[in-house]
Amino acid sequence: MAFDYDLFVVGGGSGGVRAARVAAQHGARVALAEEYRMGGTCVIRGCVPKKLMVFASQYRAGFRDAAGYGWRIESHGFDWSHFRGKLDVELARLESVYRRNLESAGVEIRDGRARISGTNEVTLNDGRSHTAKHILVATGGHPVLPAQVKGCELGITSNDVFQLEERPERILIVGGGYIACEFAGIFNGMGSQVTQWHRGPGILRGFDEEARHHLAEILTHSGIDLHLGTDAVSLERSENGIRAVATSGREGVFDAVIFATGRRPNTSDIGLEEVGVALGARGEIVVNEWSQSSVPSIHAVGDVTGRIALTPVAIREGHAFADTVFGGKARTADHECVPSAIFTQPEFGTVGLSEEEAVHDHKVEIYAATFRPMQNAFVGSDERVLYKLIVDATTRRVLGCHIISPNAGELIQLAGIAVKAGLTKEDFDRTVAVHPTAAEELVTMSRPTRTA
Ligand code: NDP
Repeated sequence: MAFDYDLFVVGGGSGGVRAARVAAQHGARVALAEEYRMGGTCVIRGCVPKKLMVFASQYRAGFRDAAGYGWRIESHGFDWSHFRGKLDVELARLESVYRRNLESAGVEIRDGRARISGTNEVTLNDGRSHTAKHILVATGGHPVLPAQVKGCELGITSNDVFQLEERPERILIVGGGYIACEFAGIFNGMGSQVTQWHRGPGILRGFDEEARHHLAEILTHSGIDLHLGTDAVSLERSENGIRAVATSGREGVFDAVIFATGRRPNTSDIGLEEVGVALGARGEIVVNEWSQSSVPSIHAVGDVTGRIALTPVAIREGHAFADTVFGGKARTADHECVPSAIFTQPEFGTVGLSEEEAVHDHKVEIYAATFRPMQNAFVGSDERVLYKLIVDATTRRVLGCHIISPNAGELIQLAGIAVKAGLTKEDFDRTVAVHPTAAEELVTMSRPTRTA
């Protein structure tokens, strides 16, 4: 049977764009539909605008420290509208780069919402249907409002933060995950009064215990009013803002309430179940290691599959799919030992096993160092960095590395290579320190802090 296309990609985010481009470069006839803006969550309402906000918000601490080093600087506060204007321009520029890259690879772009109308057919909201030998679903995910909170519609999600006309002076953030912690740091840095309520006993559930507790202390010390074991019960509009009530009975009035209470895959109302694509308990598309769904002609990559919700992972999945199906190079994306960073202030970089995970199957040595780096000590700041290595006591392999420090995102990218390569503690130790740096701790921790 002759198809209109070899591949129809639904969704123009990181995973879909990579797959479309690579498939086209392998000679496939490719179309891609996007209903909103090219670039997806990462570029339009995720990683990129978030990181630019992190940069913007870091200057406040920078000005404070600069004064400690002798600079005489007068700050007149943060101009949100100036930043927002520049952000819009930058995102539009990036979006056009994404478009251009697709077009120059020969991908046909269809602006509009697509529905899977057959195992080899996609119908756009202009009513036109297209057949394709393969369909790739890369529709990403969306933030959810917690329905159990009365009046939750008065709150906003990460999607809306980048559209705010004004910087909220008093802000409540609900949640204790990546997004909640990053926005808490951002608005704290920009000068807002930040309150964070998280239902659990500690932020960043699932991460290394010692590291997440160390980070929570720093965030609290930096001015974030963090309340653990505290969840929102209700929101209502009051005379001077939004009144929020928590499970603990705590109350407050805020100019904005951000729910950072998790994300769900975008799988509803796009025809998946009608054509027999199996979905998991959270609505994610169930795929095998080749990113193939229960319908052989339909694949899926990125957040919609509920694997690891990180841009570089989606990109790898999209690339592996295109190489396998169109490039004659069968390969799968590697989901083991994926480094990541939470862009709090300071950042938290992590790769490999946490101490709690490691002790399950390994006899371990823990090397952990916390100290005031010289840059902080000079200005009298108490903020301490954390460098932590989890070492298998038998094989000597470094199983995990956790860093809380300025630029930990950059550091963990490098440390991640060593951990992924399976290097041993002795390999780390053979590497000469770069002096004076804080990261030299990675190669100079000589005695285990404890064994388990
Ligand atoms: P997370 O899963 O990281 O965090 C969700 C938070 O909301 C948790 O603290 C969770 O608590 C809490 N929560 C969930 N449901 C409710 C509820 N009904 N009521 C109250 N609290 C609730 O999700 P995020 O949305 O922060 O991020 C989604 C994903 O996006 C991340 O897992 C990550 O993969 C990715 N991401 C990556 C970033 C990066 O690389 N820097 C940045 C941002 C996102 P509990 O722990 O108790 O379940």
